[in-house]
Amino acid sequence: MIHDTSETPRQPRPPQNLEREESQLWRWILLFMVLLAAGFAALAWERLETLPYHLGPLALGVLVLSVLLAIYAYGRRQQVVQLKLLLQDLQQHVGVAPSEEQLDQLNEVIARSQRSFKELIDSFEDAACAVSLDGTLRTVNKSVSELVGLPYTAIVGQKFFDLLEEPTRESVEAGLSRFLEKRHWTGTVRIRFKNNSRPLFFDCVLNAIVKGGEVVGASVLGRDVTGQHEKELRFTELFETLQEGAYFSTPEGRLLDANPALVTILGYATKEELLAVEPSELNVDRAEPPVLGRALDDRGGVRAREIMLRKKAGSAAIFLESSRAVWDASGKLIRYQGTLVDVTERRKLERQLLQQEEFRRHLLESFPDLILVVDLQEHYTFVSSRVRDLLGYQSEDLLDRRISETADHSPELAALYHDVISSNRSFGATEFSARHRDGRWLTMRASASRLFDADSKLAGVIISVRDMTTERKLEQQIVQSERLAAMGAMIGGVAHELNNPLTSILGVSELLQDSQTTDAARKQIGILQQQARRAAEIVHNLTYFATPPTPGKTPVNMADIVERTLNLHSYSLRKNSITVDFLREPNQPFVKADPHQLMQVFLNLILNAEQAIRETRDRGTLRIRLGNSGESVWASFQDDGPGIPADVLPSIFDPFYTTKRPGRGTGLGLSICKSVMKEHNGTIDAANAPGGGAVFTVTLRPASSSS
Ligand code: ADP
Repeated sequence: MIHDTSETPRQPRPPQNLEREESQLWRWILLFMVLLAAGFAALAWERLETLPYHLGPLALGVLVLSVLLAIYAYGRRQQVVQLKLLLQDLQQHVGVAPSEEQLDQLNEVIARSQRSFKELIDSFEDAACAVSLDGTLRTVNKSVSELVGLPYTAIVGQKFFDLLEEPTRESVEAGLSRFLEKRHWTGTVRIRFKNNSRPLFFDCVLNAIVKGGEVVGASVLGRDVTGQHEKELRFTELFETLQEGAYFSTPEGRLLDANPALVTILGYATKEELLAVEPSELNVDRAEPPVLGRALDDRGGVRAREIMLRKKAGSAAIFLESSRAVWDASGKLIRYQGTLVDVTERRKLERQLLQQEEFRRHLLESFPDLILVVDLQEHYTFVSSRVRDLLGYQSEDLLDRRISETADHSPELAALYHDVISSNRSFGATEFSARHRDGRWLTMRASASRLFDADSKLAGVIISVRDMTTERKLEQQIVQSERLAAMGAMIGGVAHELNNPLTSILGVSELLQDSQTTDAARKQIGILQQQARRAAEIVHNLTYFATPPTPGKTPVNMADIVERTLNLHSYSLRKNSITVDFLREPNQPFVKADPHQLMQVFLNLILNAEQAIRETRDRGTLRIRLGNSGESVWASFQDDGPGIPADVLPSIFDPFYTTKRPGRGTGLGLSICKSVMKEHNGTIDAANAPGGGAVFTVTLRPASSSS
């Protein structure tokens, strides 16, 4: 209980009050003990951090106040002892009026006592005052003076409602009867001083000042908690106005509080309605454990995840949840708080974007051309998977590689890129030879155009590449067959022209030979005849090749056809230093075949062998063997060239398959051979000879057995 010190310090206290003063002191000491015990009890009862924020410091304040009171009571006790001594002194001089000196001494002790009380309450950082029931301020400490902005003497004696805008006299009087009954009150009070319009918040403890058993006023101890209160207000404001949903829940997922945003997002009308729903009601699948809940043994702290919640209307929504678990001092999970952002729309958009991206990708992938994107640093940034069909590579083989790194295969492509990037042309095209991974040479046509980014800035070049091999070969074939047809016609004409003089030469030389008398002359004419016959044979073969004598199959001797083909090609073989090792089989059965077509097959095999040998060496040997087994008649052509690589072997009979540079081979030779042999019910096979080189075998059925 705070002592009323509003009386003027100069007035001496009547000596008969000393006994009461002393007994009051004892009561003070008792109060101190009670407060001390209360302070300890409060501290022991709950740990400070689990108390609401304003009660923890208050418990501490009570303890500090108790200690200060103890010091104060001790001082006062000393003063009372002094006063008692003075009184005893006075009593010894009964009837004798106290001397001036004694009265001064008495006054000084009283004044010192009041000063020390003032100093005591001034030393409080919290505001402290004593106020009588009519609202008169009896004493105030320095903190109150500072808050009001007036000195102590100007405040004491004033009514508190003359200094305050809030709380008003009426509001205080409304709660007075309850205070008189309880004699104690604690709570947070909003105070607005007249000198300052800013409202302040104080945690207050009011205790009754009792005189003679009657409450005459109240001691007020107030701690300024405006900062905390404003923080709390700001937090509440934030919670209420946040666009994201925010909530507090029990560990089991039952909502304790939710902000208006969450109420709206989940489609409820009021917060109360939302807080009343069962936790599993928010699940998409009600049978599942509550989505918002958290296992009691969860020590995870902060957690961010994507969850699905059911709105009131029943639709499911996707939320991005960021939450935190709160434990008490004993480690028990007490609360769970978090924010929820509705990302349903975002996810929908993302899905749409992904679908668009997929569509774009499929569009590019299903495009018959190979699509390449090359950035400004010359790197392939996109390679459609057509690259696998076209060139035998995977997209990854080219991705991030520089276009000039592939220049050895297609320098024209790199040149096209540079041309489009550096010139003002927005489009360019080129035709080039590219090598398939399996070694084949292909003719490609590339069209390039500039690529711009979203800001219309040049970002690179987009190139579409088309395989033109088939088209070009067909074109070549047409040109070649037209040329061959023209040549055939010419050869036919020349042969016909040569036939007449040759017939004359042969006829005349025969006549001449008969009329010769000397052996030498006959021998010379014999040579003339022999050469003329040879020339006639060549001419005959030429006509045979240029214009097939009869369409259809006739029984032919394979060896004759081989010989005729060799004769036709003998000049080229000689020129290329290729020795022909040909053994005629004496009793070779006839086969039923179109001699012209068979000649074409053999010529192809001889030409391929010649080219294969010339690829690796200056000279070589072509070994031709014939044979039969009763069931079949065959001819084999073996060269000593490089042979056929194992990975090429399965494709050599495919139309247009060639490993030769463009212009050197059409890839049609062997495929024509195959179709001719098939048409003859025969076969043609390729293999690598054990000693190196390739060996092609043509097999037909003997004429007697063929249908
Ligand atoms: P082209 O000769 O125009 O390439 P072909 O169909 O005649 O077409 O031959 C196809 C391929 O078979 C040739 O490109 C070559 O790789 C292979 N080939 C054919 N004959 C031989 C051979 N005697 N030695 C090695 N490889 C050969």
